[in-house]
Amino acid sequence: MGGIPQTSAESKEKFEERVLITKQGKKRLWKKVKCQLIEYHSLPGFLRDNEFIRGHYRSEWPLKQAILSIFEIHNETFNVWTHLIGFFLFLFLTIYTAMKVPKVVDLHSLYLPDVLRRADLHKVHAGLLTCLPSLPNMSDLNKFRQDLKTSLPSMEMLPSLSGWHIVELLSNCLPERFASGNYTDVCVLRSVTDEVANLIAPLMRRPITRWPFFAFLGGAMFCLSASSACHLLSCHSERLSYIMLRVDYAGIAALISTSFYPPVYYSFMCYPFFCKLYLGFITLLGIITILVSLIPIFQQPEFRTLRAVLFSGMAMSGIFPILHKLVIFWHQPEAIHTAGYEMLMGAFYGMGALVYATRVPERWMPGKFDIAGHSHQLFHILVVAGAYTHYRAGLVYLRWRDLEGC
Ligand SMILES: [Zn+2]
Repeated sequence: MGGIPQTSAESKEKFEERVLITKQGKKRLWKKVKCQLIEYHSLPGFLRDNEFIRGHYRSEWPLKQAILSIFEIHNETFNVWTHLIGFFLFLFLTIYTAMKVPKVVDLHSLYLPDVLRRADLHKVHAGLLTCLPSLPNMSDLNKFRQDLKTSLPSMEMLPSLSGWHIVELLSNCLPERFASGNYTDVCVLRSVTDEVANLIAPLMRRPITRWPFFAFLGGAMFCLSASSACHLLSCHSERLSYIMLRVDYAGIAALISTSFYPPVYYSFMCYPFFCKLYLGFITLLGIITILVSLIPIFQQPEFRTLRAVLFSGMAMSGIFPILHKLVIFWHQPEAIHTAGYEMLMGAFYGMGALVYATRVPERWMPGKFDIAGHSHQLFHILVVAGAYTHYRAGLVYLRWRDLEGC
């Protein structure tokens, strides 16, 4: 029985119990030894990536211990948490956007001066005059006014419309079919307010499709969760590390590709040729990048710069649609506003790629930034900041197109 000798005085049950205890003890000891943090020079080849991070490595930990190490301090703890928090931020933003950004654009959700600037108020005026012919015997103006207010509360907030004394206008222009009968009748009032609503309706556009925006949010959540899982689990085994790194690269490619969707779609929705051209190009580039990253040598430390160049090159190709947008819409405030956000996002991603490739600051003081402050953590924070900036730009695009359509 496993090399443990049975003494002659010992019963069979006692012996088996002793064997079990010994085995459990060994197992516990093995776990303890296995799950200690080790130095860079003791690492197996597949875990050697950054020689400036000297210690606090997990190496070939059992899967359960690797997962639970999310609550322990080692040199990947902050790498896991920076992107896990980023993931939850984007999950929240997705739910918030799905619930808050309206299905139908109503006057409440819009910035009113914007609506007025774009609304054809003369058309409303003319519409009211022609559609609601004069009705001289309106008896209960106040009740009618209240009813209108509950039906169209925003009308009171529209300075130009209230400036026309809309109720007075309506009282002069009610439909002929109401010329006889009880004008304060609830049904009559409801039908009048419906008619007013129908008049205003053409000014309230159907919101523009959200799929490019949600594609970006999905890409961001995929990238952040894949990265977080990769940092948590890669220490388990060479095979899992290989798989997780591919998932991580695929996540980065997905984030970059889907980041193009909102700006390209909403900028060029009225230019289907360019819209399809740019979206097709970036999707293809994303797929090629994922395929290239499947080549085993791609993860070698000496290809770190190549990876940084490939991913940032992919991101930088975004300059073409952005410049194109500015050429077409240079007079449009939203185009300038979103381009500002895009420049800020480029600065975040650019700085991220730079620290990723140069491994600053740990190269200046090897071993001093093992737990906190090393380049990869800074890179993670900059990625979340860049993606959040892009989210803000996306909201500007949505409002622009909701208001203006194509
Ligand atoms: Zn990472």
